Amino acid sequence: MAKSKVKAKKRASGNARGTSPRRVRAILEKLDEAFPAATCALEHKNPFQLLVATILSAQCTDVRVNQVARTLFQKYPSPEAFAYANPRELQQDIRPTGFFRNKTKSIVGASKKIVEEFGRQVPRTMDELLTLPGVARKTANVVLGTAYGVASGIVVDTHVQRLAGRLDLSRNSDPKKIEQDLMRVIPQEKWILFSHQLIWHGRRVCQARKPRCAECKLERLCYSKDKTI
Ligand code: SF4
Repeated sequence: MAKSKVKAKKRASGNARGTSPRRVRAILEKLDEAFPAATCALEHKNPFQLLVATILSAQCTDVRVNQVARTLFQKYPSPEAFAYANPRELQQDIRPTGFFRNKTKSIVGASKKIVEEFGRQVPRTMDELLTLPGVARKTANVVLGTAYGVASGIVVDTHVQRLAGRLDLSRNSDPKKIEQDLMRVIPQEKWILFSHQLIWHGRRVCQARKPRCAECKLERLCYSKDKTI
């Protein structure tokens, strides 16, 4: 087979060459050193509030979501309050987070299902969570990992997506495939913390436009073309 065809095949498979157990262990150690206490930045008092906040966080900063959520959870203090809210009013209440019409549909739909089919409790399994309107694997992983401590997968948001590529842990661009790649190489007991650590690293150091490689603890392990040193 011609060299170019072999290369194309490797790319298509999504195989990253940076996934040797030794290198992955070193990355995890450096992340532990840099962000030992990384956790979810969305403020919440219970799994239901975390679910709503996570839906609101799509295409919006956590700071903005927290600002909106503080008053929102006072006005709508229960799943029933969201389930039977006036959609137009709710749209205005969450408007600053963007995409407010779709988010309203998701929040009202998910709340109704939680009230009417899940006994007011946010479900604890991936399969059940995925039946809620507006909930895909990313949101389900956030809720299961942070609210219930269940390691069902790895949260792949925009930061994790970018860093999985820069750290050569995945060569896929589809979040579902990236998650599968990461789940294959990261030990399951690290899935929850690893998700938070990568998100923190993406926000604070390995930023999209100008990664701060000079202050990055993973710099010696990184051979990304985006490196700035
Ligand atoms: S060295 Fe730079 S590009 Fe690599 S992980 Fe660190 S900040 Fe990101």
